[in-house]
Amino acid sequence: SSGQKIGIVGSGLIGRAWAMLFVSAGYRVQMYDILESQLATAQQELQKELHSLEERGALRGQLRAAEQLALIGFTQRLEELVVNAVHIQECVPEQLELKKSLYSQLDGLLGDDTVVASSTSTFMPSLYSEGLSRRQQMLVAHPLNPPYFIPLVEIVPAPWTTAEAVERTRLLMLSLGQRPVTLKREIEGFATNRIQYAILNEVWRLVGSGILSVADVDRVLSQGLGLRYALLGSLETAHLNAPGGVADYFQRFGGEISAVSATYGPTPNTRAEAGTLAEIARQCEELVPLEALGQRRATRDAFLTQLAKLKKQF
Ligand code: NAD
Repeated sequence: SSGQKIGIVGSGLIGRAWAMLFVSAGYRVQMYDILESQLATAQQELQKELHSLEERGALRGQLRAAEQLALIGFTQRLEELVVNAVHIQECVPEQLELKKSLYSQLDGLLGDDTVVASSTSTFMPSLYSEGLSRRQQMLVAHPLNPPYFIPLVEIVPAPWTTAEAVERTRLLMLSLGQRPVTLKREIEGFATNRIQYAILNEVWRLVGSGILSVADVDRVLSQGLGLRYALLGSLETAHLNAPGGVADYFQRFGGEISAVSATYGPTPNTRAEAGTLAEIARQCEELVPLEALGQRRATRDAFLTQLAKLKKQF
């Protein structure tokens, strides 16, 4: 419940986003980083960001920006971070060796009552927690960027993670207003990236074979499928798309689905297909030049705020 202490390891983009989510629900947050300069930057960015959200009427939670900021502290000592923390959210760069050495450091410091969740997008929890004595308290809680506006969190247990640690993390995420899904067991790519990569592979093939331009293939999602998927998942979409619901849908279209799927061809090797990559990059940069990416991200985030408000009513 609010008032409890949360520790955040790594004060970069994702660490700061988690800090904002936790203080919006009234938790006390302490942030740890190996770089003092990063902690100083985080402090400045958090001030700017929370006040700007407040001015735009987009601040989450019941507390004012100043009250939320007062809940955030900083430390450069990991031993200090773990004291009385009910939950530690790890947000260090995506390098397995770095994560492994951090987790073995944490292993020697943790008490019985602290759960440690990694924000990792790619590493299954067994990869960095195997062999540790506190491994049953470790799991993945993977957010999507920007977490302040996208509520999904994927909770992924290692084979040895306790059911209690999973349930505590799930309830914690709900208390922030996030929308967790819990995988029964770990799997490469978790759920989000498995689905995202299936889409990326097909988009790559369609552009690579010259059937659609980058702008048009993205339009298929942004002006088509994505509008449905902003409200419903693909199975409920199917359920609504046949008179007799989803069973009827797969009876009617199952043959077609299998026939089309058989024509996909092999998984593209996106690093080796240099020609396709250069073409995709050229067209993307024509649409959004590299120097305009920051502006485009800011616009996306501003509209996501509006979309999040609308979705709450659905
Ligand atoms: P980042 O580079 O912005 O921040 C990483 C921070 O960790 C830096 O402040 C760095 O100084 C600090 N750090 C490095 N080594 C450390 C150590 N040993 N101890 C403590 N702090 C250390 O990275 P990010 O984009 O915030 O990503 C963090 C994690 O979140 C990664 O695992 C990434 O996969 C995951 N993630 C990122 C995104 C995204 O879109 N950026 C989305 C979802 C998940």
